[in-house]
Amino acid sequence: MAIEVVSVDITTLAVDAIVNAANDSLLGGGGVDGAIHRRAGPELLAACRRIGGCPTGEVRLTPGFNLPARFVIHAVGPIWQGGARGEDICLAQVYEQVMRTAVSQGFQTLAVPCISTGAYGFPKPLACELALRVMGDYEDRLSRILAVVFDRENEQLYRMRLSSRARGRSRQ
Ligand code: ADP
Repeated sequence: MAIEVVSVDITTLAVDAIVNAANDSLLGGGGVDGAIHRRAGPELLAACRRIGGCPTGEVRLTPGFNLPARFVIHAVGPIWQGGARGEDICLAQVYEQVMRTAVSQGFQTLAVPCISTGAYGFPKPLACELALRVMGDYEDRLSRILAVVFDRENEQLYRMRLSSRARGRSRQ
């Protein structure tokens, strides 16, 4: 099984690519986005400025610059607005785009944060379910997918869901 839950600062990981929970300007912000830009340095901001933004639901690729990771996949997740505006479909689409990019670039190791579950307010249980479902569809095509959890609730949700999935598989 390729998906592992790790509780670390994503900016410390020496993987082929880390995923940034970016906003549509791609010009940095708070949370994981701010941490990635601080560690990557000003060249990342310059590269993002050249790209000129990214619509919600899509991703853009840049080098990692001063990060230990070689690349950053900037993923713009939806802002939670109550759930009736297709936020679930949009979040699943973002994860799809992340995974397709990783596979098409030939990345073997990927670290993914809990997109939209911070400032964007997406309910963590639903976000976890969608994230693991989509990442699970691609796990055979990468050697390691690190699901990076940075708060207690996400850590518990991800660990519970992955262990119940493993139990389900061993019964088959
Ligand atoms: P969003 O705007 O998409 O909600 P946030 O950065 O506010 O993005 O939060 C997304 C998730 O990233 C949250 O679960 C938050 O706990 C987590 N996070 C914040 N900083 C880091 C970090 N340095 N490494 C990994 N995850 C982080």
